[in-house]
Amino acid sequence: MTLANDVDLLLQDLGVPRHLYSQGSRAVRSPLTGETIARVLDATVSSATEAIARAQHAFLEWRTIPAPQRGELVRVLGNELRSAKTALGRLVTIEAGKILSEGQGEVQEMIDICDFAVGLSRQLYGLTIASERPNHRMMEQWHPLGPVGIITSFNFPVAVWSWNAALALVCGNPVIWKPSEKTPLTALAVQALFERAAAKLDGIPAGLSAVLIGGRDAGELLVDDPRVALVSATGSIAMGRMVGPRLAARFARSILELGGNNASIVCPSADLDLAVRAIAFAAIGTAGQRCTSLRRLFVHYSIYDAFVGRLKQVYASVRIGNPLAKDDVLVGPLIDEMAFQKMQETLAEARTFGGIVFGGARVEEKQDPAAYYVTPALVEMPAQTGPVLRETFAPILYVMKYSEFDEALALHNDVPQGLSSSIFSTNMHEVEKFLSARGSDCGIANVNIGPSGAEIGGAFGGEKETGGGREAGSDSWKAYMRRVTSTINFGHDLPLAQGVRFDI
Ligand code: NAD
Repeated sequence: MTLANDVDLLLQDLGVPRHLYSQGSRAVRSPLTGETIARVLDATVSSATEAIARAQHAFLEWRTIPAPQRGELVRVLGNELRSAKTALGRLVTIEAGKILSEGQGEVQEMIDICDFAVGLSRQLYGLTIASERPNHRMMEQWHPLGPVGIITSFNFPVAVWSWNAALALVCGNPVIWKPSEKTPLTALAVQALFERAAAKLDGIPAGLSAVLIGGRDAGELLVDDPRVALVSATGSIAMGRMVGPRLAARFARSILELGGNNASIVCPSADLDLAVRAIAFAAIGTAGQRCTSLRRLFVHYSIYDAFVGRLKQVYASVRIGNPLAKDDVLVGPLIDEMAFQKMQETLAEARTFGGIVFGGARVEEKQDPAAYYVTPALVEMPAQTGPVLRETFAPILYVMKYSEFDEALALHNDVPQGLSSSIFSTNMHEVEKFLSARGSDCGIANVNIGPSGAEIGGAFGGEKETGGGREAGSDSWKAYMRRVTSTINFGHDLPLAQGVRFDI
């Protein structure tokens, strides 16, 4: 069976009408083999405008439905995802190149955030605040915001949508999704599952969820449309630089989830067996194509040689290849040829800065000449310079030696990005300093685990050029609602705040 046949069966199983992926000008290719697996149709300006109009119409109704009833839709969606986990997870593997357990894990993450959002649908509460005026009560309420545009990256083709959509929907907002142009099939599949869920309930307005297939142009339609109240955009810093100012220009809300340059510090007191495993997963897993992938490693000089030696053994033995063709594969392909070229250019640049490169070569070329599998690269750097300061979306780990903890901490923070970070240490002085106000400047700071693989219960996002947005758990839902502060006078006098007198 060809990959295209496999995809056809999966999409039929998931309920996607065949005309949506069998014709169209945009070829969809699988990074597993490089072959074309489907053809999709891009949204046009008029179809996008129509989808936004339908979302706006749906909003007027959806915002009046009690939040726990909105949660019921997300509960049913979560059940659809449970039933479809195997098929959708396999489609993620085929379209994004993740190993099978990561494809399944991504769908599990969708199920988890649906469960979270169902509970949240009964907890969208505001505060009651002590008023300074007698016979007055002050309170805040949270109301739905309006249509939410969701722009997503290729590397988490479905989970990122669900982090946003599950929350946006219980908060009373329709969603319009512009998935990565590299992964439109998983988006069509999720939309079909959404429609299945909506059809099982009465009173779900039409147009509550829509997908706009296409590239940057389609994303810009969401960014520029005044009816789209919030745009949550996940992708590169370059994308954020374009999208952020355009949203700000029309005073729209934004959640920006951009690139990272994540680091770990390995201290002399660390459990090194644990640290090797955690670092291998964080740096090599998903072929280095997670926003939270480990890219910089600071190792204390006293353990450096032994520790880096152990890491190299792991690097040399990790199983790489097509997860559908080989058993026990831990590392799949890079997304495309351009990612491979960028990786090679970056390694060449690292050498010019004195980097000693271990790994990084193309493999599996004979079996799959149009796919790009690489051995992960470990680069010993004399200093944090050149390519170490930016994110290259590939499995490159820069390793640097340190002697003083404060020096490592300063270097850790001395990059423009601020997504995720971790420390391996059993010394409470180091650990607590790392987590303190003068410690890691990232949105995520972990202890004795790597920087990647977040759970949905916490707020996810990062600082500095990572964009400042927060998604998923904790109180991230507040970004999807508007806050109203109300003061109610239940007396017969009119005392003014701050003791102001205005006697007429
Ligand atoms: P990308 O920036 O190339 O594309 C991301 C999305 O933005 C795509 O849907 C693309 O079509 C769209 N887009 C690009 N330019 C646009 C514009 N001007 N207007 C509107 N939409 C536009 O990113 P990618 O290669 O798909 O993903 C990898 C990047 O995403 C990495 O930098 C990674 O760190 C980042 N990422 C960040 C997070 C996070 O939560 N912080 C999560 C996943 C990925």
